[in-house]
Amino acid sequence: MKTGVSYYGNRIPRHVEEDMAEIAGNHCTFVVHTCSENDLQYYHGTIKQIVKISHQAGLEVWLDPWGVGRVFGGEAYSRFASEHLPARQILSDGSSLPAACFNQPAFREYMSHWTRSAVQMGADVLFWDEPHFIKADAKGKDAPWACRCDACGHKFRQQFGYPLPGELTDEVRRFRHDSVMDFLEELCHLARSEGCKNAVCFLPDQEDEEKELALWNRLASIETLDILGTDPYWWSKKIAVEPFVANYAEKIVKLAREHGKEGQIWVQNFLITPETEEYIRTAIRTAYGAGIRNIAAWSYRGTGYMAWLRSKDPERVWKILGEEYARLHKLSHC
Ligand SMILES: [Zn+2]
Repeated sequence: MKTGVSYYGNRIPRHVEEDMAEIAGNHCTFVVHTCSENDLQYYHGTIKQIVKISHQAGLEVWLDPWGVGRVFGGEAYSRFASEHLPARQILSDGSSLPAACFNQPAFREYMSHWTRSAVQMGADVLFWDEPHFIKADAKGKDAPWACRCDACGHKFRQQFGYPLPGELTDEVRRFRHDSVMDFLEELCHLARSEGCKNAVCFLPDQEDEEKELALWNRLASIETLDILGTDPYWWSKKIAVEPFVANYAEKIVKLAREHGKEGQIWVQNFLITPETEEYIRTAIRTAYGAGIRNIAAWSYRGTGYMAWLRSKDPERVWKILGEEYARLHKLSHC
């Protein structure tokens, strides 16, 4: 049984030491550290130290390209996108977005640099969190979509033999999936060749289940991918949490089995209110019941240190998580 939690917002090693001991004491076997563009540039040596401290606490260490290029999940800005204007994603209405495009060679090069650096920092697993084309603020079927940059235009024409359409056709959708697939495959191969494992978290798209699964299936087939999962978060909604989590956990278990990978489910530990505290327990038990043996929570101590995502009673969230993790370890030993 593997149990983990993400950790960010602190780059002071002596405090990290205290927190890693607490994480291990709360029945976690691994920690996911974020490594944003800012970290890569200014905290390289510090992250290396943080990884070492985490290993010394007995934890497996994952590194996450948090908000890098704004194509991965995370509350971090992208310097790459602000400096490399020609490598940005272009919406179908022609506007340029502050996010890098998967198909731009300069961004591929930057991600190779991130990957090699993360390996050098001592990571055991690289965590490719929610890779996705950026979405426009507008919703609905006529909402603008990404990406129509020069690299996408060139690649589409090469693949399909005609210019990239202005509408989001089935072939454009396939092209977008292929683009994420190529990008991730390249990074997974590189990480594996450098001695690291790879984990991916699929972004759940509740609007279009069929199209979502098509992408998940493609990504799951990456040979050098080890762990695949998703993060069925309820955000601030009151929901029937058991069927909600079961639906995603069952999809992951099935995909993992079909492709010979390890399945993982992420459990929300941010924006938890008194009404949703017990959702944590239910979500963990539901995932385990579906056959998941790798569970992670976002984030440390109910994310109480980040105002944007803070839970109402972060200590209580942390306590429930620890109780449930302890229970799973006990169960899986029986
Ligand atoms: Zn593009």
